[in-house]
Amino acid sequence: MNFSQAAGIRKFAKARAKPPATEKCEPRKFRIILDVGHTSESQGATSARNDPEFGFNLHLAKLIGERLKSAGFAATRVLVTEGKAKASLLKRVGTANDAHADFFLSIHHDSVPDKMLEEWEFEGAKSFFSDRFGGHSLFVSERNPRFGASLAFARLLGKELKDRGLQYASQYTLPLMGRYRHQLLDKDVGVYRYDGLVVLSRTRSAAVLLEAGSLINRGEEMAMNSPERQEMIAVAVTAATRGFCEKR
Ligand SMILES: [Zn+2]
Repeated sequence: MNFSQAAGIRKFAKARAKPPATEKCEPRKFRIILDVGHTSESQGATSARNDPEFGFNLHLAKLIGERLKSAGFAATRVLVTEGKAKASLLKRVGTANDAHADFFLSIHHDSVPDKMLEEWEFEGAKSFFSDRFGGHSLFVSERNPRFGASLAFARLLGKELKDRGLQYASQYTLPLMGRYRHQLLDKDVGVYRYDGLVVLSRTRSAAVLLEAGSLINRGEEMAMNSPERQEMIAVAVTAATRGFCEKR
């Protein structure tokens, strides 16, 4: 190799190191769909104090949406879907795909399998709880066409939540979880594999499902109802989104 060739290669390497303008993060053009888990007709899990999951999901998704918009992610959309549980899943996917979303984040709150429930009385009504487990969890599907990017976002968000002192739900690897048992892809920040989830596997954009916390754990339900915890999660999602947009 002569020196002029070497100089040419150096020049080429320099040109390649600079990303094309289209790959730069432009928050206002970055289309995020915040999918509110469940519907007003089919409200998901019931908390230890008999409040439906859908209300928690809606409130948190709206707050995350506000924080993202304040951070410049103007194209953020909070997606509320109507109808029966199963039919609503394909509607969500259809909306995300039609909108050419850059990223899809489904917001949920967690419970436990029925066999683990214990009985207590809340405001005079027979109610159910389980204080045995708690914490948030993140799910990704290997069937999603952008699995690598989905996993990258989940790791970023897991790290942001961990940095704020929150612990992830560790029970999903345990045999007692039965059909809800999942492979832990990142044991540092709590990312699980859940291939069959429709909203993750059929969405064309990168997609992650966040179980923000447990509603069936009596202490954690109180935390999930507090503005401090909600704010902490909204800020964590915003920081992870910024990191994801810049790195993609
Ligand atoms: Zn749910």
